[in-house]
Amino acid sequence: MTRHVIIGAGQAGLQVAESLRKEGFDGEVVLIGDESSAPYQRPPLSKKYLLGEVTAERLLFRAADHYARQNIDLRLDTRVTAIHPSNHTLTLADGTHLEWDRLALTTGARVRRLDVPGAADPRVHVLRGVEDAESLRQGLERAARVVVIGGGFIGLEVAAIARKLGREVTVVEAQSRLLPRVVAPLVSTFFHELHTGHGVRILLEQQVAALVPAADTLTVQTVDGTSIPADLVVVGIGVIPNTELAEAAGIVCEAGIVVDEFARTSHPHIVSAGDCTRHRNLLFAAPHRLESVQNAVDQAKVAASTMLDAPVPYAQVPWFWSDQYDVKLQMVGISAGHDSLIVRGVPGPDGFSVFYRSGDRVIAVDSINKPAEHMAARKLIAAGGRCDPERLTDTSTDLKTLFQ
Ligand code: FAD
Repeated sequence: MTRHVIIGAGQAGLQVAESLRKEGFDGEVVLIGDESSAPYQRPPLSKKYLLGEVTAERLLFRAADHYARQNIDLRLDTRVTAIHPSNHTLTLADGTHLEWDRLALTTGARVRRLDVPGAADPRVHVLRGVEDAESLRQGLERAARVVVIGGGFIGLEVAAIARKLGREVTVVEAQSRLLPRVVAPLVSTFFHELHTGHGVRILLEQQVAALVPAADTLTVQTVDGTSIPADLVVVGIGVIPNTELAEAAGIVCEAGIVVDEFARTSHPHIVSAGDCTRHRNLLFAAPHRLESVQNAVDQAKVAASTMLDAPVPYAQVPWFWSDQYDVKLQMVGISAGHDSLIVRGVPGPDGFSVFYRSGDRVIAVDSINKPAEHMAARKLIAAGGRCDPERLTDTSTDLKTLFQ
């Protein structure tokens, strides 16, 4: 019987398995994951789970009997240590081998560690998996002083939760503004003011030099000599794509597993999807590596169609969200390469949207507490992004009408 194997039982891996079944594949589907939990949602780990509002069980994508019902052979706590493309096999950590007809690599990403003295102290936390989140949640119960290293999405979401829990919070960011790589300066300013308004202390342009442990305090020392005492430190400085298996098997990787618009790697029978890929999307000239639920799900569907020899190209508009306090940021498109901005509404608590333009086209939109504008922006960008710029700023105009 034909056997399709998926390595990595996260958001993308689960989607590949389910799409194979949905598209009618009746051979074996083996979904291998090295975590002990069945596939679960990561976004709540830095949001409601950390706040104690949802349990680990509620994070699970599917009920326990779903996998048997779908005839998906889910193997947890199982690590793939090598893949052998030439003879269509792979090796598991226990030394056994498994044959495959088509292989999907959905190995995701792991956190980047802070490389300074003291970073191995047990009071230092990272956040990627449910075990990290549980350990951080317990740590936050005891900690009075929290230092967050990294002013990106994960760091800021954790800062917001820690403040909601009443902790004293300092965010240390190496760049000159928060969320420096992903949003325009005015959006950074909005989030800076949001956090300082909630009592967070933000230190910008500060590189961490060392964490100095003592019995009752872990002191964060920056390169310029600033000392910040902490009971708990959270490091959110980005992720590294898990490409080692692919690289060792001779599959082309360049800051991610390189795949084309059909999710094909450089090996004709191996596809890849999700956070681990540097991929083509027909909507963009340049390849991207994205860390988002949307990309993991939509690219996984493409990967499954390729595994079934019915390839459909990837041409989906990327979107993402982040929750901080009572603010929901929703982003659509990719703003890199924009040459002008249009702001709709007034940056503030009532919400606003920022349109990133390249020439006469809108290429990305950040909406703050404007879910209807975000949904309209998705359609606008999918339709090519052309619309009258003057009408964008007119908040009396329904955005939905602008691209008709
Ligand atoms: P992963 O979810 O990382 O899954 C990969 C799996 O493969 C992992 O379980 C890994 O352990 C396993 N694996 C790796 N190597 C092997 C091996 N050799 N053998 C077996 N198994 C292996 N996205 C949003 O769009 N919005 C959000 O608000 C948002 N919030 C987030 C908050 C947090 C705290 C985190 C961590 C992520 C968040 N994301 C968010 C990102 C989103 O969760 C990811 O983009 C998505 O989970 C990626 O799915 P994936 O399947 O590609 O990778």
